[in-house]
Amino acid sequence: MSRRELAAWVQSVLGGPGFRAGQIFEWLHRARVDDAAAMTNLSVADRDTLGRAGSLERLRIDTAALAHDGTRKLRLRGAHGDVFESVLIPNPGRGYTQCISSMVGCSLSCRFCATAQLGFVRNLATWEIVDQVYQAQDLLQREAEQTGAQWPGRITNLVFMGMGEPLHNYGQVTAAIALLTDAKGAGLSPRRITVSSAGLVPAIERFARDGHASEIGLAISLNATTDEVRDRIMPINTRWNIATLLGAVRRMPVNARRRVTFEYVLLAGVNDSDADAARLVALLGELDCHINAIPFNPHPGTPLQRPSAAAIDRFVARCRHGGLQVHVRTPRGDDIAAACGQLALEASP
Ligand code: SF4
Repeated sequence: MSRRELAAWVQSVLGGPGFRAGQIFEWLHRARVDDAAAMTNLSVADRDTLGRAGSLERLRIDTAALAHDGTRKLRLRGAHGDVFESVLIPNPGRGYTQCISSMVGCSLSCRFCATAQLGFVRNLATWEIVDQVYQAQDLLQREAEQTGAQWPGRITNLVFMGMGEPLHNYGQVTAAIALLTDAKGAGLSPRRITVSSAGLVPAIERFARDGHASEIGLAISLNATTDEVRDRIMPINTRWNIATLLGAVRRMPVNARRRVTFEYVLLAGVNDSDADAARLVALLGELDCHINAIPFNPHPGTPLQRPSAAAIDRFVARCRHGGLQVHVRTPRGDDIAAACGQLALEASP
């Protein structure tokens, strides 16, 4: 429930003073309790009534695999008993970045992505998106208690780059962001949240129109410099091609455009040539943007390969020489299949 829906529901169940909805919101989203009985600033009668009128569902952590670099992959069980994944990445001295899923599986069939092999199962509900963060924060809290650490690690950054195309689940994703950034709840900064899209142009336009793009970062998964190659590796391109996609980005208000990142998964022999680097400069040179070059992270069954270190260096140097700001993303958690493009539930029942 949004804050407003919660207020209406609390009014219908408890009646009386409006401030109780605010107290309950804080119990749910700041204290992260999962039982009305724990809401100790409510009367016992109100706690009883709440407990009978509603139920509090939480995700369950099935497994939390730990990689050599401290990255954790959480396998979570949702409302229908099905599973999906979320990845918690430590930033030395700066808390954690969490990679969030918006769907079980995905419908978009990007060739370089293990999630695509699952096909589309379903969209996650708002609470299943929000609770990925709360479960991870609870996990860090439990670990701090076990180790006697004074402060638990804090999740400071969120990226919607897990399973699924977040803008295909627009309503639930934006509702989840509203809850996670509420100052009375988790209070995450919208400026530390990034939503990634494979290029769903109407939803990107809606995201900008609704005013989200000026606060929340948008990452466009580009990955090719010609329609011929992008059609092959990202079938969504046959619907909205590179020119249409970049046209939508160019039409964004300038402050929103500044928050756009382009992701470019580097695939050996597919999109890593000198000609690709030159075309990327021509395509993006006019835009005030940032490029994340992501060396491909292989998964079982894929014929695609990561370019050699020398080929990556050459590609990046050519882009930089052309004036692009390029950051090469270091793979995180690749020993537990938690790196970009590797989420696929290989151990699912
Ligand atoms: S890269 Fe993203 S949009 Fe493409 S198939 Fe994978 S999860 Fe879906």
